[in-house]
Amino acid sequence: MIVVFSDLDGTLLDHETYSFAAALPALAALRARRIPLVLASSKTEAEMRPIAEAIGIDHPMIVENGAGIANLAGHRDEEANQYESLRRILQSLPEHLAGLFEGFGDWSVEQVTARTGLAPTAAALAKQRRFSEPGIFSGSAEQRAEFYARLDTLDYQAVQGGRFLTVMPKTSKAERMVEIAAAYASETGEPVTTIALGDAPNDLAMLEAADRGVIIANPAHAPLPVTNRERQGFISRSRNAGPEGWNESILQLVETGF
Ligand SMILES: [Mg+2]
Repeated sequence: MIVVFSDLDGTLLDHETYSFAAALPALAALRARRIPLVLASSKTEAEMRPIAEAIGIDHPMIVENGAGIANLAGHRDEEANQYESLRRILQSLPEHLAGLFEGFGDWSVEQVTARTGLAPTAAALAKQRRFSEPGIFSGSAEQRAEFYARLDTLDYQAVQGGRFLTVMPKTSKAERMVEIAAAYASETGEPVTTIALGDAPNDLAMLEAADRGVIIANPAHAPLPVTNRERQGFISRSRNAGPEGWNESILQLVETGF
């Protein structure tokens, strides 16, 4: 069976408007073929549930950049709330570093609204975090390297998304994709072919680990580097950005039988 894993912002959702309207034909094509669509985003579960509902799907979801999985039958819910301890760790960094990173926990709903362009209701859901902290790092390249090294010693990592730098545990969308694909395989007894779509560095590991990866163009940031997987033909790039690119890429895969 085929399972599609997709990032949201800048991939299935327009980078600016957060609309997936342009991808409706491809979403319908997946539905018609009963191909599950697993959303994989840095967004929170609270934010992703209404989006999944609007799309009309009820599949497992990779939340907060791979820090958690939601909606997977039999999946043990991760320890209640790792967010508070992450916030404490960020606040306890040496003073010259602590002031350089500002995250959603430092911002009011109004500020998150202004930074993301989300509606205030969606911004409030984005603040309901359990595992990870997206934000902005305002220091020099040297300070950034020191920030990363410091997080590494604390068993955390910082991952660059299309808009924010997310501080999170050392897991990824890629590891979660493998976990969910294995769950589908054991549930159906069929081998699973994974298709992954994403636009930013935080998607790269997932794109590399998938049987087929599609880089969705995003003119808002520098293009992703060309890797061996892409040179070998396992990763392709969309012509159009966001949901237009998603639509074109999925329809093309459907047409060619994946
Ligand atoms: Mg993205």
